Amino acid sequence: MARHALMRTELLPTFGMPDKKVDGFIARIRERHPKMIFGYPSAMSHIVPCAEQRGVRFDDLGIKVVFCTSERLYNHQRETIVRLFGCPVANGYGGRDAGFIAHECPNGNMHVITEDIVVEIIGEAGRVLPHRQSGKIVVTHLATRDYPFIRYRTGDIASLSEETCSCGRGLPLLTDIQGRNTDFVVAAEGTVLHGLALIYVVHDLNEVRTFKIVRKNREHTRILLAPEAGGDMTGIDTIIIDGFRCRLGAKVTVKFVDAVLAEKSGKFCYVASHVVLH
Ligand SMILES: [Zn+2]
Repeated sequence: MARHALMRTELLPTFGMPDKKVDGFIARIRERHPKMIFGYPSAMSHIVPCAEQRGVRFDDLGIKVVFCTSERLYNHQRETIVRLFGCPVANGYGGRDAGFIAHECPNGNMHVITEDIVVEIIGEAGRVLPHRQSGKIVVTHLATRDYPFIRYRTGDIASLSEETCSCGRGLPLLTDIQGRNTDFVVAAEGTVLHGLALIYVVHDLNEVRTFKIVRKNREHTRILLAPEAGGDMTGIDTIIIDGFRCRLGAKVTVKFVDAVLAEKSGKFCYVASHVVLH
């Protein structure tokens, strides 16, 4: 976490946010007086009702901006974040690997940061699509510190528009971005946790090639597992069931399958939830 020390940033985990953790999170923000906050929209907007219930405010801390990325930012989330933090929300689109790809302007349009990167929209067989046609987002970014991204697929779908935005920025617009739904899940007793908290239970197991977590309802979660060739799966289901049960407090079943298919975007959707969040 050298980067965090250097940048004087701090990473506050929002996994499995029962009340106690939210209290810690709120206290830390008040203590640190951050200038900027970065976070998943779902995590940030989850903090709002908790803070408001406790009569906590953040709008007196001088926070300049809340950056949201990685997930779709819904209007109701934006409104609640603005209300609590008393500053604008800057919505960015990007992959955690590829960095920011587009930033939202005050008019609500997503401008591709073409000073830095090349974005292409491709269709079948890697063919570059014309404006206004939806396809896979592919990013080329040569000026990265670590290694260049060449035609990197973010896993999301969008189209480029030739329209110019009335905000005056000449940067092209990325429209109809799809594929970034919130991955929040709700446990049996109502605790809300980020889907990554579940994903990591399975992701770190070398024996597992691909998987999919299907929340059938609050009481039942099924995990589809495709083992690595030659992977010894003895006891794996018990590890997974225990890991999930302590987070979700629900019935968990594991089903071994030959393969887990990717979504239309080409990206694996690790969590499919039929549980309604509100
Ligand atoms: Zn604009």
